[in-house]
Amino acid sequence: PAGRRPLIAGNWKMNGLKREALALADALLAGAGGAGGRGELLVCPPATLLALVGERLKGSAIHLGAQDCHPKPSGAHTGDIAAPMLADLGCRFVIVGHSERRADHGESDALVKAKAEAARAARLIPILCVGETLAVRDRGDALAVVAAQLAASLPAGADGETLVVAYEPVWAIGTGRTPTTADIGAMHQALRAELKRHMGTEAERTRILYGGSVKGSNAAEILAVPGVDGALVGGASLKADEFLAIAQASR
Ligand code: PEP
Repeated sequence: PAGRRPLIAGNWKMNGLKREALALADALLAGAGGAGGRGELLVCPPATLLALVGERLKGSAIHLGAQDCHPKPSGAHTGDIAAPMLADLGCRFVIVGHSERRADHGESDALVKAKAEAARAARLIPILCVGETLAVRDRGDALAVVAAQLAASLPAGADGETLVVAYEPVWAIGTGRTPTTADIGAMHQALRAELKRHMGTEAERTRILYGGSVKGSNAAEILAVPGVDGALVGGASLKADEFLAIAQASR
C-alpha cells in the first residue's frame, strides 16, 4: 500500500517471566525467517524483560519496542521509565496511548501527545493508539471521535518514518470481536485524511495499524483492507505460532 511496509507488532502487555519470554523470543526467531510475509516484525515486552529479550533479538530482523514511556527525559518520577532509557536498551518503537493506559491511568490526549513527542526526541518511533468505546460506536460517532482523538494526541513534527498510528477499537481489544472490514476501511480512511490535515503528503507514508482481536485466522482478511498497514496484536502475540501466522498474512 503506497510503499508502506506492513508492521506486525506484538504487545505482550503485563505478561511473561524471564523463562517464558526467552522461549517466546526463541520460537519467533526460529520461525521468523521462514514465516514469509512482507511485514516488519516487532515485539513489545513488559519493561522488566526489555533488556533480556533485546539481547536475544540483537542482530535479528525482529525489532524491540516498549509499551509506554514518561513524557520527561529524566527526573523525580518514581517508578516511571523515560524514552531515552528505552532507546538505550535497543528499543526502536514505543506504544503510547494504549486504551488500557488511558483507562487504568487516566491518560489524556495531551499526555499521550507529550509522550509521543518524548519518544521522538529520543529517536524512538511512537505507536500512537486511538480508538472508540462501544458506546461511541453505537451512537454512530466513531469516525469523528477517533479523528479528534488523533488530532489531539499527534506529536508535533512527525513524518511518515517517525510515527505509526494504531486504530484499536476499545470494544475489540481482548474480546474476540472485530469491526467489519468495511468499518475498519472507513476508519483508516478517516484517520489518513486527518493525518493529511496535519502532515500533508507525509500522511501517505505513515503506517496505520489495526488492533483488536487479530489472530492467525482473521489476519489475512484484516490486513487486506485498503489503508491497513499492519496489526497491533495483544493476546495472539503471546503464542509464537499465532504471531507468525499473522506475519505470514502480511502482504
Ligand atoms: C492490544 O491490546 O493492543 C490488542 C490489540 O489486544 P488483543 O489483540 O488481545 O485484542
